[in-house]
Amino acid sequence: MSELNEDQQLIVDTARSFAQKRLRPNAARWEEEGLDRNVLRELAELGFAGIYVGEAHGGSGLSRLDAALIFEELSRGCIATAAFLSIHNMCSWMIDSFGSEEQRAHWLPQLVTMEKIASYCLTEPGSGSDAAALRTTAKTDGNEHYVLNGSKAFISGASFSDVYVVMCRTGDAGPKGVSAVLVENETPGLSFGKLEDKMGWRAQPTAIVNLEDCKTPVANRLGPEGEGFKYAMKGLDGGRLNIAACALGGAQDALDRALSYVKERKQFGKQLAEFQNTQFTLADMQTDLAASRALLHMAARKLDAKAHDATRYCAMAKRFVTDTAFKVADQALQLHGGYGYLADYEVERIVRDLRVHRILEGTNEIMRVIVSRDMLRE
Ligand SMILES: Cc1cc2nc3c(=O)[nH]c(=O)nc-3n(C[C@H](O)[C@H](O)[C@H](O)COP(=O)(O)OP(=O)(O)OC[C@H]3O[C@@H](n4cnc5c(N)ncnc54)[C@H](O)[C@@H]3O)c2cc1C
Repeated sequence: MSELNEDQQLIVDTARSFAQKRLRPNAARWEEEGLDRNVLRELAELGFAGIYVGEAHGGSGLSRLDAALIFEELSRGCIATAAFLSIHNMCSWMIDSFGSEEQRAHWLPQLVTMEKIASYCLTEPGSGSDAAALRTTAKTDGNEHYVLNGSKAFISGASFSDVYVVMCRTGDAGPKGVSAVLVENETPGLSFGKLEDKMGWRAQPTAIVNLEDCKTPVANRLGPEGEGFKYAMKGLDGGRLNIAACALGGAQDALDRALSYVKERKQFGKQLAEFQNTQFTLADMQTDLAASRALLHMAARKLDAKAHDATRYCAMAKRFVTDTAFKVADQALQLHGGYGYLADYEVERIVRDLRVHRILEGTNEIMRVIVSRDMLRE
């Protein structure tokens, strides 16, 4: 970590200390009990609820690289909490970047303190990877309101959050007919499906968001009509870095656990650490995580610099880091033998949690589509 400057080292130390004290000891319990709102508020007090939101409205005004450092450390404590926070940060950033001054002044002070929590609603039952085919409609009622109809699938925070950033169709088919509209909790016509029973991220609520004649002020639209899909994709550039950073932190935690375990466990009269297979596996795990971290930081620097190939690098990092982190977590489980398969050792939770990082915010196949399309365009 020697490439970090003094401020970044302080950020890492703060996030690490919080994660080790407040998140790691509770992560297994939260799988049963759900997210802890008080802990989310404590994270907000550290400035982690508006990491790259401007300081004018209470954000931390930090860089994407800083965010990657923070999410890696938080995820070493609890992947589900860190990843949930990353989605909230993505929504807050969208409001800060594309909202009006009035919208920013209204929402951001509440979001950066996590007095209000935000969810991102793009996916629909019929449109996942092909997100631009979304069918949720928003039609004006001629009276300064949109009437929204449709449903959003797999929404992280559904029924828990206070504001939903809904990508909906205000125009023709295709990406240019999509707008981003903020829908507040308790708006008549907004309802939620049953909580999904998931392999991982079990601390987080995930559900369908239903919009049935849901009347929302036109003033809640971010930017002009037809810009919503662009905003959603720009949000995902940074979102993908954060999802990758969370995967990296989870895998680092799994490696830390494996490193201690192989020094304790004896078979054939020797510590597991004395077998060359164990040593080589540990070396590969460490190397793979270091390579992942380097690519992640490179992509974050590109996004900070608004480089022309930032989107490509964010997709490359998301694909590489999440695949690698999952493999490393699985290797950590293998080094634990049968004990790795037991919940008590917590490595199986990490493996379960990291599986979805290869699927959401664009599957890793879609990351390859983004990268190759950009390469072939040149
Ligand atoms: C726990 C969880 C939380 C989520 N949270 C949110 C959220 O908060 N907000 C939100 O909007 N969404 C969320 N999602 C949705 C997630 O982003 C989608 O599941 C994801 O984009 C994939 O869409 P899909 O599930 O419809 O799969 P599909 O698009 O049906 O894909 C199925 C398979 O086909 C492959 N495929 C599809 N198209 C292509 C192609 N062109 N080339 C090659 N392969 C292709 C995919 O890679 C995948 O392997 C969440 C999902 C989960 C599981």
